Amino acid sequence: MNAILEVRGLHKHFGGLNVLDDVDLVIDTGEIHCLIGPNGAGKSTLFKVMVGTYEPSAGKVLFLGEDVTGRKPFERVRRGMSIKMQVPSVFRELPVLQNLVIALQQRLPRQEIDGEAQRLLVLLELQAQKDQAAGRLSHGQQQWLEIGMALALQPRLLLLDEPTAGMSPEETFRTGELIQRLNREGMTVLVVEHDMTFIRQIAQRVTVLHFGRVFAQDSIDAIVDDPRVAEIYLGKRHVH
Ligand code: ADP
Ligand code: MG
Repeated sequence: MNAILEVRGLHKHFGGLNVLDDVDLVIDTGEIHCLIGPNGAGKSTLFKVMVGTYEPSAGKVLFLGEDVTGRKPFERVRRGMSIKMQVPSVFRELPVLQNLVIALQQRLPRQEIDGEAQRLLVLLELQAQKDQAAGRLSHGQQQWLEIGMALALQPRLLLLDEPTAGMSPEETFRTGELIQRLNREGMTVLVVEHDMTFIRQIAQRVTVLHFGRVFAQDSIDAIVDDPRVAEIYLGKRHVH
């Protein structure tokens, strides 16, 4: 069994609005999978159904082969999902290091916390800022800190919703490097994004969502070359 996360026949409607319409998706263990699509396609809704913020109107979510559809987000986190939502939620008044320690306390015995906090500071390139209030970090650094807090939970699957929102191109590139490094170390990553440059940098497999349906699913190279995707996603016509 190679699937770490699987959704089957997923539907979600809000009143009369069908936001997800029969979505099937498999995330394989060890991959970087990108979920892309135009604004309003349903990406964040699918993300929230995967992590348990929303219950689906129909369909199933399986994590590590287990049906977690009715499970609360914290129960999914305990099983090995870790989440970074679109809006960062660090403790702004607390120092960077303290933010990591608080997250690490949920998983590690006391004697391992300092060492792991140092390892994460290095990984996130935030050593120099460790005593600074998190709210004073740049927007990009806050996003990295939040990824670090998600990593502190020792997940098997890291789920990121628009991790580069509001970042400079330089910060975006470094975020891509961070994700690739985590992946080389064995982390499975699902990234929701609409920045195509970033997706080209990191993606292995890509799923394109359009009007709540899976419109295409392929390698990044095939997706980039697909004129139908260019048309819906980039709003461009294929040039003959
Ligand atoms: P994306 O992340 O791809 O931009 P979303 O999943 O955020 O798309 O939204 C898809 C559609 O669902 C949009 O039309 C949005 O207005 C609608 N929607 C999202 N969340 C809710 C909600 N809680 N209640 C009603 N409509 C919602
Ligand atoms: Mg979104």
